[in-house]
This record gives sequence, structure tokens and C-alpha cells, in this order.
Amino acid sequence: MGSRSNPLSVRDLHEIEVEKLRGVGPKRKDALQKMDLITLGDLLTHYPRRYLDRTRQAAIADLMEGDEATIVVKVVRTDLRRLRGNRVMVTSTVTDGQSRMTLTFFNQRWRERQLQPGLEAIVFGKMENFRGRPQMTSPVVDLVGDQTGKIIPVYPQSEKAGVTSADLARYIAEALRRTVTNDDARSIIDPIPSCVLSDRAMLDRSTAMHRIHVPETHEHVSEARRRLIFDELFRMQVALVRRKRHLESTQRGVAHQAQGPLVRAFVGALPFPLTNAQRHAIGEIDRDLERPVPMHRLLQGDVGSGKTLVAVSAMLTAVDGGHQGALMAPTEVLAEQHHLGIRRLLEGLEVPEPSSLLGTRPLAVELLTSRTSAADRKRILAGLAGGLTDIVIGTHALLQEKVQFHSLGSIVIDEQHRFGVEQRAALREKNADGTVPDVLVMTATPIPRTAAMTVYGDLDVSVLGELPPGRTPIVTHHVDAPGTLDGEPPLQLEQMWAELRASVAEGRQAYVVCPLIDESEKLEVASAEETYQRLAARELEGLRVGLMHGRIPPDDKDAVMDRFRLGELDVLVSTTVIEVGVDVPNATTMVILDADRFGIAQLHQLRGRVGRGAHASMCWLVASPTTADGQSRIDALVGSTDGFELAEVDLDLRGEGTILGERQKGKNDLKLASLRHNREVVVDARNAAIELLDDDPELSAHPALADELVFFASDNDEAFLLKG
Ligand code: ADP
Ligand code: MG
Repeated sequence: MGSRSNPLSVRDLHEIEVEKLRGVGPKRKDALQKMDLITLGDLLTHYPRRYLDRTRQAAIADLMEGDEATIVVKVVRTDLRRLRGNRVMVTSTVTDGQSRMTLTFFNQRWRERQLQPGLEAIVFGKMENFRGRPQMTSPVVDLVGDQTGKIIPVYPQSEKAGVTSADLARYIAEALRRTVTNDDARSIIDPIPSCVLSDRAMLDRSTAMHRIHVPETHEHVSEARRRLIFDELFRMQVALVRRKRHLESTQRGVAHQAQGPLVRAFVGALPFPLTNAQRHAIGEIDRDLERPVPMHRLLQGDVGSGKTLVAVSAMLTAVDGGHQGALMAPTEVLAEQHHLGIRRLLEGLEVPEPSSLLGTRPLAVELLTSRTSAADRKRILAGLAGGLTDIVIGTHALLQEKVQFHSLGSIVIDEQHRFGVEQRAALREKNADGTVPDVLVMTATPIPRTAAMTVYGDLDVSVLGELPPGRTPIVTHHVDAPGTLDGEPPLQLEQMWAELRASVAEGRQAYVVCPLIDESEKLEVASAEETYQRLAARELEGLRVGLMHGRIPPDDKDAVMDRFRLGELDVLVSTTVIEVGVDVPNATTMVILDADRFGIAQLHQLRGRVGRGAHASMCWLVASPTTADGQSRIDALVGSTDGFELAEVDLDLRGEGTILGERQKGKNDLKLASLRHNREVVVDARNAAIELLDDDPELSAHPALADELVFFASDNDEAFLLKG
């Protein structure tokens, strides 16, 4: 590989294997492969995780206990000690030339080999004081070797593969030398239109690539990062906006008539006025529904914000025009609960039926899940195909091929985060005449707006940012109770049960959510039954206690829920099946056992079962968190009832991969950009993408960008992008 005259594309960079680089060779190649660094492209986008400024190093003697610092040290000696229970401790005495300190590692036997006397390393950690001597426990150790320069990149490295930050810096410098010439830095193709770059005063890609790895100043680093972050987000947005437009131009939808007689009758019969937020969202949805292009809209609203009514309005609009509506929930229990609630909301509504005596018949709302009996299933399938079923509520059983609709006008998908994109696509193929139903996706787990824009880039977004009036805020307590409920209850627990009983004495009701057992539903049910029995015999003795879990037959489930709703039960002991959809305003106490085992979103959902009426509500989180994350989740819930705020914390704790889900895995991963920290850039990139695609929808004037999109697209996207 000599010096290149033709600029290289991202695709080219991913076709050159690292083995071709001087100094790599077959053995190192294997090590790099373990780190997923296979091509020059991988190597060049293996960005430094931080930088070390040689001119700003800390000295051990200047540091106070609790300070976080980066120190360049030399190893003096390293010892391994065996502890009880087959554990080991490695301690290493290091010096910065002036003073010494100790590094301590537990159960990292290999540190003994790594930290040989004489080795130079950079350690990053928190200064502690151990018996009067400075110490760091489990610091980050980087072996940067004898790199020159004032600012040294520190790379994510792999101890296991034996690849140090210094090795990586060497290989990357070599890769840059081969691809980006320093003086004429133009040998990586820049796919971003030059006006987009100049409007934002951004570096070209080659320069940015060079500077992020070999900066001379801190400004170099920040300029390069700014450009490369924009690269990632712009690419993503162009792909998303393009897909959205593609769908819009190729799909034929139903142009509904909004605010028809059924919708007006339904809204008119509600015992309360719609909130402004609901009115606004329904307005946005109505405008979509009236267009001949299928709607793809996301409805975001915190727990209890009243999304159900908005969903029902969208389904009824379809029925008003002689079409059908469907609601798809992620679990059977949720489908059952939605069915109960929606059937009640729609009671008494009539639809035209020319063949009947009075010219009308009752609006038909059916439930279709895998638990539906064979006879019912047959009847419902016939009703859907013949048009006698107006609204169907179900799970992904609705997606089965056998389910054919007379004319599916709108679909509501609840809790999109548990649904795959393909499932959404499958539902769109239900109409024989080729029309595509309007799709409304509801999420009760609020996703920060920019993240939503990215994840659901092909969806428009409506937000219910206001709760119905008359709610009283929920007060949340953390009860630290070691173990589960075994043994003598600690004082706090006793107090909790006493308060629960006091509120029941005042006529209120309560939920107790049993520990989550991920491994198996069977174990979870067993534990719920055990908890139920114990509570009924002890803490809740004398109260009317019911039990609810996923394995209870549907009819019994309805019976239990009805009794609770009617106030015939004081306390409902339950697994997480009550997470969404249960709506009993008189229930004001929520107890969640082993709360640290639940995720933030789930806790927020569960807590949202109370605080639905005018009475003050309480949520008790019983937990002795064993991890820092567990503690943070509890703290977050105690500190906030705002779903958007909690979603942000969640994003922080879990990282963004979980939010991006399946779709963004693989090559398309964001390496530098963060949806949380680079919100303005997400918005900016989206606007730039829209502007570009307005001018050049097919990207015919931007072949390099088009090629890069195809290269980065997931298999799913690829078909469309190649086609488009
Ligand atoms: P979400 O699905 O968004 O969590 P729901 O649709 O279940 O919320 O509504 C929560 C509760 O608020 C229900 O009891 C519902 O009847 C009530 N509700 C909805 N809209 C209003 C409104 N405009 N005014 C008063 N209460 C409302
Ligand atoms: Mg709901």
C-alpha cells in the first residue's frame, strides 16, 4: 500500500485489514480482532477515551483525600496476597518521582504480572487515605509507553488481549500516515456537503480524524470532536428522514374524516373535559388522519396523563368512516386490561347497521389474544374480516396471517419499546386493498425528546405534557429492609404497614408489588403466592387481601380486578402485571418489595397506579440495594415524580444502547455522539438533513453520502436504501 492519490471512502477504509499496517502482523492482528478492530476503518474510529496533558500532571503530595486525579507513575514493587474465600489482593507501590503511593486491586490476579517494577503508567482514580498513606483502589491504569507530544491520547484498551493504549496510538498513527497526509489533509472522502460544513465552521473529515488522534492543542480535540459527532448524527438523521419520506411517497393511506359523530358522542359523554394537552394531541392526530398519507406518530405522555382517551379517539375516527381500529399491547394482561377499560369507555355507542331493524347496532369491541377460546376466536376473526367487529384489542396475536380485516383504518400500538420495528411493519399489511392504516404509537415511558427524534426518526411526535387536574403528588419513601420479609421486621417496615392499615381504615386501598424474579415466571408466581400468604397472615391480617399474577386464569383475573375496583378488596398483592392500565383512583398506597430489582421506568409505571384520585398517595420502596445503580434508581424515584426527568436519569444509568435498541446495533453505533449530551447537535443535524433532502431527495448530487448511508445501514434499512 503506497501513498494514495485517490481519496478513500469509509467503505474503502473498512476493506483494508489492520494486518496491512507496519508493525501489526498476524499475532497482533488476532489481539486487535478480539477488540473488534479488524480494518483501518475500525481503528480510525477507535477514538481516545480521554487525553493526558503532560503539562498538567498532578503530584501525589499535592492531592487531598477524595480528589480525583491522573498521575504519571513508575512502579516500585508489586505484591500479591491471598485473602479469605479464594480472593486475592494485588498491591503496587508506585512513585511520581517525589512521593509514593499504593494502588490496590481485588481479584485482579493479572495485575501482578502487569505492574512490573520499573513500568511507567498513568493512573486515574480517587485519592484515599489508608492508615495515613495515600492510596487508590482499582484505579484506571493506562500504559502509554514513551509517547511523545504534549497531549497524549488514551485509548480504550484491552488487558486481556494485551493491547495497550500506547500500541493503539502507534497503529492509529500509522493508519493515519497511510490515509491522511498531514500537510494536504484530504485523503479521506468528505461526504458532507461543503455548505453544511461552512455554515457551521467545521473541519473537513480528514483533518478532524487526524486531530482527534494526534492533537497539538485542546482546541484541536474539541474541534475534531464537534465535527465527528456531527458526522454520526447527520448520517443517522439523513437515513431516518429519508426513510420517512420514502414511506410517505409510496404508501397510500385512508383519508379519514376527523371529529365524526362517534368521536363527538364519546368525548361529550366523558365525565370531565379533555385537558389542553389531550385536545392539542388529538388535533395533531386528526390532521394526520385526514391526510391521504398514512400517519406514523408517537404519542408520549407520562403515566396517568390520559393517553387512552387520545388512542380511543384515533380508533373511533376510523370507525366513524366505516373502518376498523386496533390496539396492540405488549402482553396479554395489558391487552385484557385495555379491553376492560376501553369497553367501559365506549359503552352505549352505536354504529350504523342498515340491515338491522333500528338501523344501528352497538359498537363491537373485542379482545383477541392467544388465550382467547377457539370458539371466540372464530367469531372474532369472522367479525374482523366481515366488518362486524369495530375495534379489536390484542397482543401480537393480531399480527398472525390468519387475522384479516375488513378495512383496518387505524392502529394504536401501546408501549412501543417492547415492539420491534418489523412488527409495526407487519401490521401495516393487513388491508386487502393495499391501503396502509394510520399508526399511533403510545409510550408511557417518556423518552427525552431528542432521543425520540432519533430512535423514532420516522415518526412525528405528540406530547401530553400535562396531567389531568386534581391529582395530588405521590410522596415516595425508601424503606431500608435487609433481605426480604424474613425475620423480625425492622422499625421502618412496621411503620410502613401501620400507615397502610391506617389508610385502609380511612377507606382507601393499597397495592403490594412482589419481588421481580427475572429467571422464571413460575418462580415469580410461587414467590408472589408465598408473599401473599405471609402478608395475609401477619402484616395485613384482618384486611381483605387479593392476589393477582400472570398465571391466574383470565376470568378469575377479571373477578379479582373487579372486586378490587369495587372496593371489595382492601389490598391487592400482585406481580408486575399491574404495571400498566390498572386504574383505581381510590388506591392510594403502593408498596414495592425488593424495589431495587426493578428498572426506573418500571418503578415509575408501578408507582403511577396510585396518585390517580384526589386523596394523598404514598409509595414505599422496600429495598437494601446491593449495587450503586440500584441505590441510584431508588434515589431517583424518591427524588422525582416527573417521568421525563426519570427517563433522563435512566438514560444516564443504563447508557444509550438500551434506548437505541436493536435497530442501531452494529456498524451504525454512535461512537462519539451521545443523544443525551449532544441534543442541540441532534436537532441541528436533523434540520440539516431535512434541508439537504428537500434539495436533493435521492442524494444524486451527493453520491459519497449515499454510498456511506448504504454502508452503515443495518440489513433492515439496506433493502430500502438500495432501492431508494
Ligand atoms: P395513561 O394511559 O396516559 O397512563 P390513562 O389514559 O390511563 O393514562 O388515564 C389516567 C386516568 O386519568 C384515568 O383514570 C382517566 O380516566 C383519567 N383522565 C384521563 N383524561 C382525563 C381528563 N381530561 N380529566 C380528568 N381525568 C382524566
Ligand atoms: Mg394507559
